[in-house]
Amino acid sequence: MAEPLTGRCLCGAIRFEVDALTEGPVACHCRACQRQSGSAFWVAVTAARDAVRVTGDRLAWVRATPSAERGYCRDCGGYLFWRLLTGDTVDIGVGALDRIDGMVIEAHIFTAEARLPLPDDGIPRFPHGRPGID
Ligand SMILES: [Zn+2]
Ligand SMILES: [Zn+2]
Repeated sequence: MAEPLTGRCLCGAIRFEVDALTEGPVACHCRACQRQSGSAFWVAVTAARDAVRVTGDRLAWVRATPSAERGYCRDCGGYLFWRLLTGDTVDIGVGALDRIDGMVIEAHIFTAEARLPLPDDGIPRFPHGRPGID
């Protein structure tokens, strides 16, 4: 990647840079993502944790489910990050990225939990997550 991806929360108190992604956008339709985001699904990219630099002191991590925690802005509530308690990657919501040049959704995961009909977009679907990844 020529230059780091950048992003921020809604109010701008949290800004971040990402050197490189390990995985392109994946749309997760699980109920946890639905409830956390307040939307029908959550689309995120994945990066190594040490490839992400966060500035600002407003980032909070909440453990809303047993195996993962979610990073959001204490000021605006913007939901930015998801990570397993064990692991060395972090998922970054694409809505927080400043640019998404050329990105396309690579997979739909946990589609068995989707509550709105998915369009027939030809993108691979994994009813219960992707083997070895989620
Ligand atoms: Zn904010
Ligand atoms: Zn999910």
